[in-house]
Formats: sequence, C-alpha cells, structure tokens
Amino acid sequence: MKTSRRKFIQTSAALASMATVGNLLAKGNAKVTKPLVVSTWNFGVGANAEAWKVLSKNGRALDAVEAGVQVPEGDPKETSVGLGGLPDRDGRVTLDACIMDEQANCGAVACLEHIVHPISVARKVMEKTPHVMLVGDGALQFALANGFKKENLLTEESEKAWKEWLKKAEYKPIANIENHDTIGMIALDANQNLSGACTTSGMAYKIHGRVGDSPIIGAGLFVDNEIGAATSTGVGEEVIRICGSHLVVELMRQGNSPQQACELAVKRIVKNQPKKSKEIQVGFLAISKNGEVGAYALQKGFTYAVYSNEIPNTIFNAKSFY
Ligand code: ASP
Repeated sequence: MKTSRRKFIQTSAALASMATVGNLLAKGNAKVTKPLVVSTWNFGVGANAEAWKVLSKNGRALDAVEAGVQVPEGDPKETSVGLGGLPDRDGRVTLDACIMDEQANCGAVACLEHIVHPISVARKVMEKTPHVMLVGDGALQFALANGFKKENLLTEESEKAWKEWLKKAEYKPIANIENHDTIGMIALDANQNLSGACTTSGMAYKIHGRVGDSPIIGAGLFVDNEIGAATSTGVGEEVIRICGSHLVVELMRQGNSPQQACELAVKRIVKNQPKKSKEIQVGFLAISKNGEVGAYALQKGFTYAVYSNEIPNTIFNAKSFY
C-alpha cells in the first residue's frame, strides 16, 4: 500500500471512529443516507473515491460502480484484478467480471484475456447484446470489435511470481489477499437506485479455463432494486455452491438485515463444508435499499471500504465465523 494512501486511511479511520455512524457500522448495524458506495478489501478505498465522484454529483450507481472498479483493474500493482493479475498455471492472465443495474439488466465476461477493463466489456455485453455472458475467445473478439485495445496484462512481477510458483506447482489458495482477491462494489445513488460490479483475475495458478463466482450473476454479485445488493470475495467455488450473493439478497427479502444475511450465507458454507471452511476465505458484503451495510467472512482479515456523506471513505474489518 502506498504511504499516502495509508495515511489517508488512518485519518479517515480516526474521523470515523468519532462518528456514531462509524461505530454502528463497525458493529454491523449502521444506516446511512444516500448516496452510498461500499467495496471489498483495502483497494476499495481508491475505487470508492472514483465512484464517489459520480455519486456526489447525483450520477447513476451503474456509472459509479463501473468507474470505481476500473481503478484496481488498471493498477499493475494489484495482483488480483485486471492488469498485473496473477496468471493461471499456464502463465495466462484470464479475467472474470460482471455488472448489474437497478432494472436487473446484467452483463458478464469470463476467462477474458488481454483487456485491461473487463468490467467495461461486461457493460457492453449488457447494453449491446441480447446475452448476459460471453467467455474466452468470443469475449475477446467482442471486446476488440467494440474498440477495446489488446494488451499484455502479465507484468514482470506477476511473471516472476508465476515462475517461482512453477517450481512446486501446488495449487493452494491462501486465506486473504495473498493469491486471490476480487473487487466487488455495490452502490446506492441519490435517486435510490442500486447497482453493482465485480471484477477479478480469479484464483492465482488456477487451471486454464477455470471460472469463479465473480462473473456469475447471483454468485459474485446480485442486485434487486426493491431489496438490496450483495457481492462476494474468496474461494469462488464455495460461493457458487450456495448462489451466494443471490442468497444474501433473498435473506434480506425475508426480513434479515444485510449483516444477518451475510452471516447466514457464511454459515451455510460452514454447514455444507465444515472441514474445508476452516481452511479457506469467503466474504460477503451487502447493502439494503435504505442504506444499511453488512459484511461477514469465514476467516479474520476481510476488509471493506465504505463511503457516504457520514462516513469519509473508511476501511472496516468484517466480523468472521472463525
Ligand atoms: N472470488 C474470486 C474467484 O474465486 C477470488 C477472490 O475473490 O479471492 O475467482
């Protein structure tokens, strides 16, 4: 993390700890006024700042989340999203992303190579095709036909890390930010509309062609404009098994707060896979239509960033099952 960013986070954290709403949010039951944007992990701070530029001018949540997640996508130092993402076991950087708006329009790309901003290709799939998801070569072809530039996404650092990994070549997800991560971002705009975006390079050193939860509507992301929105991060296979983000939103529909819904979804994973759940990370982040925020993870270490009029772009630690 860059020093300036670290300082910014510390200052913001100090401010928020003074604010009642910040304390409430840390306990998992805060409610804030719109607009609001939340996103996964520490890199959510930079992404939220970009999204806030749109939201604070009464812009659309959809435009905010696209602009927001483009920040880590374009940052070569973030090794789990977009440019600079760690490759699969064949040394290929393959990206997954999806986007969803307040009218249940959605678009996704999976196993897309050579394009820095898969989220924007996903948005084009949503707006320009009768389909929801394009994958692999077809997704690349579509991107190139729509003016996206073909680029090499494998940075020197990521190539070096992959070559080091090849020495043992053992596929082993490590709990938090070490070799996987996703930016999932959900936002509520001034018109009280919800949208979300989710983008990742997936699990480092995965089998070529592996697709995780992140580009799958209902798994990595789900938005229902009447109820709320949810997104996930962590070992995607476990999220897919429970249709995670859809589950969180449906639990909210049944009257649970975003916090309760995230906790129930994580507990579903524990129930299904008691042994495995001790060794892997999965985190959910959710907001309700009226601005409540919730987050919960299997393991300690899942952080998320919140930006609203009351909360000045602050990182929080999610509570966890273990
Ligand atoms: N959910 C992502 C995947 O399974 C990775 C992560 O968020 O850590 O591809």
